[in-house]
Amino acid sequence: MEVVSGFPSQADVVLIGAGFAGAATAAALARAGMTGGLLLERERQPGVHASGRNAAIARQLERHPALLSLAVDGVRRLGSHMVDGRPVLDRTGGIYLFQGTPDDANGLLAGLHGHGVPSGLLLPADACVQFPFLRGFDFQYAIWCPADGIVDIHGLLSGLLAEAGEGRIALVTDCAVESIVLENSRVAGVRTTHGEVRTCLVVDASGAWAGHLGRAGSPLPLKPLRRHLFVGEAGEGAEVPRRSAPFVWDLDAGYYLRPEGLGLLLCACDETEHAPGVPAVDPAAAELLADKLLRFSPGLGDVAVRRAWACLRTFAPDRLPVIGWDDEISGLFHVSGLGGFGATTCLAAGDLAATLIRGGTPEWIHASEFSPKRAAMMPGQAVPRRGAP
Ligand SMILES: Cc1cc2nc3c(=O)[nH]c(=O)nc-3n(C[C@H](O)[C@H](O)[C@H](O)COP(=O)(O)OP(=O)(O)OC[C@H]3O[C@@H](n4cnc5c(N)ncnc54)[C@H](O)[C@@H]3O)c2cc1C
Repeated sequence: MEVVSGFPSQADVVLIGAGFAGAATAAALARAGMTGGLLLERERQPGVHASGRNAAIARQLERHPALLSLAVDGVRRLGSHMVDGRPVLDRTGGIYLFQGTPDDANGLLAGLHGHGVPSGLLLPADACVQFPFLRGFDFQYAIWCPADGIVDIHGLLSGLLAEAGEGRIALVTDCAVESIVLENSRVAGVRTTHGEVRTCLVVDASGAWAGHLGRAGSPLPLKPLRRHLFVGEAGEGAEVPRRSAPFVWDLDAGYYLRPEGLGLLLCACDETEHAPGVPAVDPAAAELLADKLLRFSPGLGDVAVRRAWACLRTFAPDRLPVIGWDDEISGLFHVSGLGGFGATTCLAAGDLAATLIRGGTPEWIHASEFSPKRAAMMPGQAVPRRGAP
């Protein structure tokens, strides 16, 4: 990755935030031939926030058609993305558990099949033959997605930053953007802790902080929600997925787990509004996890938690990403609101953003669904959707 030594006073594009959103957009712009850009990151190193602290699950099962398209395209790209000769996606497959009757399974499967994603419905007896560890879980039916998997998130992020740097979009860390310089509602530059940079194009990819810069009077209604992850070990003989087994995600009970080293990574799908930053761990999250495991996966009730952390997922009110030009500030572009699907979708989101920035029209997705000015971006709560990531 190219890191600039002297701080430039001018750039063709300034991207704010070196998480998946900023890095994937910078890499896609570099791939498309754009040079002379700056990727500014407030922290000393990239990946300190959501992009380095997530569950690394590549999940294609989505209910909203536009998000489904983005997830499927994202996983397709992850599947062929190599960093240092190694694939970033391990296609372990994913098993989604449901507690009710298979009422909406056909709709979910039709969506996946419509995109050519292999997937099928499993009733408990068949599921437990194919995946014996499922005997330890309570569920009424399951959807099996063999092409889902686990992402090497650190490899992916560093590979994207390297790709951006090779295209001369240079990373500057320890450099916070304090404000956007506006002249007649047009972007004219950014003020940073390293000095001012003149530019007419700014990409706000600042994750939990997104939607405020340049829009002090009317920030985009993005909300960071805290979520906890745990690493632990199940008791001797417990029926759990091990090594390269698929991840298991109960979309109705709201918990997931996957192998992590010799143990498990677990999540109770908690979400609590939280100010941007690094949240402290709340002991109530471990209690919620224990409660869900006891009810829905009793064999895991005695899991010994070794490590816990919390981080922020940032959502628009309709839980779709925000990718597009600002409708008030000319020259300001947003790539934010990647919620709980940023690792899955970032390669597709970065490519979509780069296409729009360069004035193109993407053929494969209805980009207007993600526009910052869509009606669903009216201020309000991020509405929880059944089984949303
Ligand atoms: C607990 C948890 C589990 C998750 N699990 C999954 C999963 O399994 N699969 C999946 O696909 N997704 C998952 N996600 C979601 C995924 O991690 C996010 O969608 C993604 O990382 C968001 O990327 P980002 O670049 O928008 O934000 P971030 O990674 O937060 O990056 C934003 C960057 O902007 C920088 N920044 C902010 N303001 C400024 C400023 N003014 N100047 C300079 N820099 C600034 C920040 O320091 C930060 O580095 C999970 C998220 C969490 C929290």
